[in-house]
Amino acid sequence: MVLQTQEPILAAYTSKKVNIQTFGCQMNEYDTDKMMEVLRQENYIYTDDCKEADLIIVNTCSVREKAEQKVYSLLGRLRPLKERNPDLIIGVGGCVAQQEGTRILNRAHSVDLVFGTDNLFDLPGMLEEVHRGNRIVQTERKAHKQKVRNFIPDFAFENTSKPGLKSYIAITKGCNNFCSFCIVPTTRGLEVSRKPENIMEEAVALVAQGAKELCLLGQNVNSYKAGGVDFVELLVRLNEIEGLERIRFTSPHPKDFHEQLAEAIENLEHVCEHLHLPLQAGSDSVLDRMKRNYTLQEYLEKVEMLRRRLPQVAISTDIIVGFPGESDVDFERTVKAVETIRFDQIYAFKYSPRPGTPAVDYDGQLEESVKSDRLNRLLALQEKIVAQKHQQLMGEVLEVLVEGTYPRDIRSRSGRSRGHYPVVILNSDANIGDLVTVRITGTKKYSLEALSLQ
Ligand code: SF4
Repeated sequence: MVLQTQEPILAAYTSKKVNIQTFGCQMNEYDTDKMMEVLRQENYIYTDDCKEADLIIVNTCSVREKAEQKVYSLLGRLRPLKERNPDLIIGVGGCVAQQEGTRILNRAHSVDLVFGTDNLFDLPGMLEEVHRGNRIVQTERKAHKQKVRNFIPDFAFENTSKPGLKSYIAITKGCNNFCSFCIVPTTRGLEVSRKPENIMEEAVALVAQGAKELCLLGQNVNSYKAGGVDFVELLVRLNEIEGLERIRFTSPHPKDFHEQLAEAIENLEHVCEHLHLPLQAGSDSVLDRMKRNYTLQEYLEKVEMLRRRLPQVAISTDIIVGFPGESDVDFERTVKAVETIRFDQIYAFKYSPRPGTPAVDYDGQLEESVKSDRLNRLLALQEKIVAQKHQQLMGEVLEVLVEGTYPRDIRSRSGRSRGHYPVVILNSDANIGDLVTVRITGTKKYSLEALSLQ
């Protein structure tokens, strides 16, 4: 991920430069924003170019394939920079750092600093130690042992989001679900929800600084509950914020997706008509071994319930292909589910064994070639569905939040619809942050073309 920061030009003469390389989910992007905010206080400015950085941080993710190998190979590529500039500090944060700890220092001698997901606010102190010549590992968990679901650790969520047109707010952290393929409950700890008043305060501040869209983040965002406020009530409160145009959230767990939330998406003006609802597999036996706590039928019923209320809702999902023991028949059930549900977008991945998760030891681990074939088949199917969905949107009137100038044509603007479709508004002089009503006039493979109606 490339962090966009706008810093005063003068600062370049006095500040140190940091480059952060972020892997993984939006939670990690959010953590990167928080690191950046902490480091700004230490007079660091952001650079896209790791060659000119005084500090490089690799913010790691261990959810997807071969995460450690990727991190170690990136660290290997960074080593020559350290050899050329011994003052360069290299840090590793995020889930792999949490899991691997000192092993990273032992294996990658160019690394000065390893810190866990709860320790990023201690970066200034850790950097001071590194400047004193020490190599640091700091991965202790801070709220992890609390089993009370609504325990609210103030330190865990500080008001440090990077303000922007689209801003993110973490409302829960950790997860209690223990899906058999996922390391998150181990690396990020059990679920804790943040105080509603803190979330509101941060949301109001972000909107005052120019945010038009807020995305609420959590591993299982819809199980939020704190101070007598549940997720729906939180949406109701956020919906009242003056100047906030759009609210999104990711990712809700299907087992906690209820009629009240569907009603909120339908009725709350600023909550976008878009739901990312991870399905993971279309076979009940695979879902059972994944420990997902729902059946395909239950998932289908929830999708139908939402579509009955809100026919235009866009639904995206995550799917894992090649889970241990996934037979041809199981995979066909996933294909059938995708054909039936017709998602607007799919994030599909090949199963990759994560050390420390139960599924690593499951029988029936599949060949890479089988996983690749299944993934390709699923992606080809989804490509067709998206092309058809794009065609159905021809002539529709949509609202687009303008996010920037379209890079390939400076006379055009790019943005997203409320359903999260990328839209290019042709020949438009709209400003960033404008909400523009458009008519869809064309389709491309990954985006829609439109003309402004204003
Ligand atoms: S719900 Fe499952 S996949 Fe999602 S973070 Fe929790 S354990 Fe991981």
